[in-house]
Parts: sequence; structure tokens; C-alpha cells
Amino acid sequence: MSTPERHDLVVIGAGPAGLNAALTAQSERIKTMVVDGGVRVGGQAATSSKIENYAGFPDGISGHDLTALMVKQALKFNTTFMGPSRVTDVLPVEEGMLVCTDEGEKYLGQVALLTTGVEYKSLKARNMSAYTGLGVNYGPAPIAADYSDKKVIVIGGANSAGQAAVNFSAFQACEVDLIIRAASIEEKMSGYLIDQIAERENINVQTSTEVIGVDGNGTLNKATLYNNGTKEARDVDVDEIFVFIGSIPKTLWLPDAVLRDEKGFVMSGVDLPAEQREEFMKQTGGRPPFGHETSMPGLFVAGDVRSGIPKRVNIATGDGANAVVEIHSYRQLLLESSQK
Ligand SMILES: Cc1cc2nc3c(=O)[nH]c(=O)nc-3n(C[C@H](O)[C@H](O)[C@H](O)COP(=O)(O)OP(=O)(O)OC[C@H]3O[C@@H](n4cnc5c(N)ncnc54)[C@H](O)[C@@H]3O)c2cc1C
Repeated sequence: MSTPERHDLVVIGAGPAGLNAALTAQSERIKTMVVDGGVRVGGQAATSSKIENYAGFPDGISGHDLTALMVKQALKFNTTFMGPSRVTDVLPVEEGMLVCTDEGEKYLGQVALLTTGVEYKSLKARNMSAYTGLGVNYGPAPIAADYSDKKVIVIGGANSAGQAAVNFSAFQACEVDLIIRAASIEEKMSGYLIDQIAERENINVQTSTEVIGVDGNGTLNKATLYNNGTKEARDVDVDEIFVFIGSIPKTLWLPDAVLRDEKGFVMSGVDLPAEQREEFMKQTGGRPPFGHETSMPGLFVAGDVRSGIPKRVNIATGDGANAVVEIHSYRQLLLESSQK
């Protein structure tokens, strides 16, 4: 086997968390390499048409432009980028963490940081992918956007969809259709949201219903709804569709030694159950895990993929920078113990 390339830090994933971690680390002279499996870097944020809740851009900025600026800044500090290469394994070795990709490359980091994010489940229906970004949206709505006088469809029966429907209904003359495949809104949504929805006259809840297709003239303007009870389909006018049918953390490839919660998000620090913390401390000679450190000593985690994190660009970037502060302390510990 050829000797793998060595770095102080290997970041897995070039979304906002990974990009901010990389530029923060490089600016602190931590030699960093980022590997990403996507066709372009920037993660989910790069697919957002306008991000309005990121500090420093009062008029909003497209996700593509924002993440391109992050890449530019990381390059300014001489960060190395590799990809597209999907990481398929990470394992502890004597010198640190070995990161392996589907292309057969191997990278050695003294530390590795996992920032692989999530994937919003996409809705399989006619024209949905063609209109994604042109009226069809996955994930949270931009906070500062104005939905006054708009017809909005929210798809999903859980709290994220309920919350979005309530938020849209606060806009002047916004008409909201909440489309739920289940026979009842009670199935997955919290009672307090169901109460709020019942109070809003401009939210029209349609249970046993699915969106089976969308249309437009380059921009979305129609959706076809299908009622599973009556077996009837009908077209409705719509300006924006928001899909909340769940998200999946990109963690399936991780080895079992990296503990995840019941939904697959990676656990870290104090969130690790007592048994795993004990096991961790056995491996580290009594050192407890850092806040962003996983159950595998030397592998840190940040951003959407970390258990319990709200899914926002600003939170992911902050989380990436916080992880680097801990990585810096971790490297200091390694240095001190090597000098003993
Ligand atoms: C359409 C849309 C609009 C949004 N709008 C907003 C908004 O307006 N405001 C807001 O605050 N938030 C918004 N969000 C949420 C925001 O984009 C995310 O919270 C943020 O991108 C999370 O960043 P992250 O770096 O943790 O993960 P991600 O952005 O998901 O990045 C993860 C990266 O890891 C890479 N990766 C995954 N698996 C592997 C692997 N095995 N090997 C190598 N690389 C891998 C991916 O290719 C990706 O580049 C939006 C999300 C979407 C989908």
C-alpha cells in the first residue's frame, strides 16, 4: 500500500460546517484537507436560492454565492480540497485517523472531522425535481422572505410541516394548504401545533392527500393533488411548495464504533450514554470526550449530522468553528503526552 497523504485535520464534507471548520483551522495553522463526495461543494446550502438569515448579508445571498465565498476564503488560507470522492470508511490507526474513499484514496489526519450533513427526503412525483429551486423547496423556508398574497403548499404530517404552515399563515393574505398523506393530522403532529393550525382560517388541512405532480412555465404555478379516499385528482394554483417528509443523516457508511442516535445522527460529548463514555475513557486513559468528539476518539463531528443540532447554515458554520477550537485543544494534549 502506498503511504497515505498526511494532514493535521481531514474534514469529511464541504458544506457550511466543513468549509468554516477548514478555514478556521487553516487560519490557526492546522494543516487541513477537505474531501467531499458531491458533484459540487457547498452542501445543501448551495442549493438554496436565497439565504436571508446569515449574518452580514442584510439583503440575502444565494446559497451558491455564500458557499463559493466560503470556499474562496478557505483557499486563501491554503486549504486543500479533494473530490468528488465519497468517504466510505474512517478508522483509528497509530498515527491518527485514516480516511478512505470510494476511489481507493487514503488520507491520514491526526484528527478527522465529520460534517456530512443530511439529505432531505425527496418527493417522487411528476416534475418535482424539474421545479426544485423554481418554486419547489426542501428544508426550512428562508426566514426573512415575504409570503404575503402567496398560495403555499406545505407537504408533511409531522411537526416541521406544522410549524412551517403556522409560520406561513402569519403573512398577510397567504393561503396555506397543508397536505398530509395520513388519514389524520393527529398521527404525527404535536397537540399544540394542531391547536394553532385549527385557529388559523387561512390554513386548509387536507388529509389522505398527496401531491402527485407539479407544473408551470419555468416557475411553479400548479400542483395536482390526489385524494386517497375519494380517488379523485384535481389541479390547484400554487406559488411555492415546501416539502417536509423527513431528512436522513449521511451516516450509513460509518463503522459501528461511531455511535448514532435512533435516527442515525452522530452522538458526541456529554450526549454519549454512560456506557459509551466509560468505554471511551478506557481507550483514552481516563480522558472524557470533547463536546464534539464522537465515541471514536479522534473523530469529531459538526453541523447538521450531529445529533440534536438545529438545521441552519449559521448554526452549522458556528458548530464547525467550535469543533476546531476543541480539535486545537485535543492536538495540544497529544503533543504534551508525546513530550512526556
Ligand atoms: C433547499 C434548502 C434551503 C435551505 N435554506 C436555508 C436557509 O435559508 N437558511 C438556513 O439557515 N438554512 C437553510 N437550509 C439548511 C442548511 O442548508 C443546512 O443546515 C446546512 O447546509 C448544513 O450544513 P452542513 O455543512 O452541516 O451539511 P451539508 O450542507 O449537508 O453539507 C454536507 C456535505 O458533506 C458531503 N458529504 C456527505 N456525505 C459524504 C461522504 N460520505 N463523503 C464525502 N462527502 C460527503 C456532501 O456532499 C455535502 O457537501 C436549507 C436547506 C435546503 C436543502
